[in-house]
Amino acid sequence: MKRENIVIIGSGPAGWTAAVYAARANLYPIVYEGEPSPESVTGPELVEKMKQQAIRFGTRVVSENIASVDFSRHPFILYPTYSEPFEALTVVVATGANARWLNVPNEERLAQMGGGVSACAVCDAALPLYRNQVLAVIGGGDSAMEEALYTTKFAREVLIVHRRDAFRASKVMAERVLTHPKIRVLWNKRVIEVLGMNEIQGLRIEDTVTGEVSDVTVGGMFIAIGHTPNTQFLNGQLGLKPNGYVKVEPWRTATSVEGVFAAGDVMDDHYRQAITAAGSGCMAALEAERWLARRGLGESPLHDMETAGAST
Ligand code: NAP
Repeated sequence: MKRENIVIIGSGPAGWTAAVYAARANLYPIVYEGEPSPESVTGPELVEKMKQQAIRFGTRVVSENIASVDFSRHPFILYPTYSEPFEALTVVVATGANARWLNVPNEERLAQMGGGVSACAVCDAALPLYRNQVLAVIGGGDSAMEEALYTTKFAREVLIVHRRDAFRASKVMAERVLTHPKIRVLWNKRVIEVLGMNEIQGLRIEDTVTGEVSDVTVGGMFIAIGHTPNTQFLNGQLGLKPNGYVKVEPWRTATSVEGVFAAGDVMDDHYRQAITAAGSGCMAALEAERWLARRGLGESPLHDMETAGAST
């Protein structure tokens, strides 16, 4: 069976940064970047540049998913969706987290065409189409509070649509929202349809207590109902936090399995920024390199490292 020194699963800022550092350490890393997805990605140009940088240093890239893993033995075995299983001495899990969507009519289409529906206010709220509009933020957790407060910089008014009569968010964040002059909360309401063909025109909402349906006019909607970390393929073989994120040691990327490291949004339920993901990707590669070195493993295979002289 083919054997790899370090396999990086995932292709966001964490994965590509891990690849750059592992490649520079002559570990000849391989990145399983997943299959191309029609979903739009924030900062695609930045990620593409990071990918090119990783390739320049000798990273190999496979456009395939890792469907499952066996961490019960070492070397680990990884099973790609289509190609043959292979062995890995270390693994960096950098598969990210997907924003949750409401799954109501018109939501996905308007999100994909840039029609005023987004799952990230911090990424998109400054765009011209959201300026001086009435904007809706969906959710009642800390993310929704944060997005609502951020959105007030650009909006005429911000409506928080929450399905219950109390926020899940921390007291301090909720207090800031409830006292903000530009924010109004629509309690006990859920969105049942997004209205609009090419651009959002409004929301059809239902009262979760009375069942009454009404329409509100908005010029944008930001969904902040949580994220789901992409850990399904691990099939319970790594320790997770109660909220489903991969558990790592404090200020480390080491997971519950020796030789498996996690970086980026799949382990970060707090910052979730590209720059923090990149930082943890670097940490994971350095930890993997040291882990291999301590065991006298991870000899660089003989290959033509034309890129070895390249500099950052
Ligand atoms: P969260 O705490 O799980 O909150 C999700 C919110 O969305 C809840 O209010 C939930 O309603 C609502 N929701 C879920 N599914 C829904 C649906 N299908 N339709 C309508 N509403 C739905 O998620 P989060 O706000 O993303 O926060 C995640 C973690 O990150 C938390 O631990 C949070 O404290 C942390 N965080 C911290 C900060 C900060 O400290 N500055 C900022 C952001 C996030 P219910 O309340 O009714 O369940």
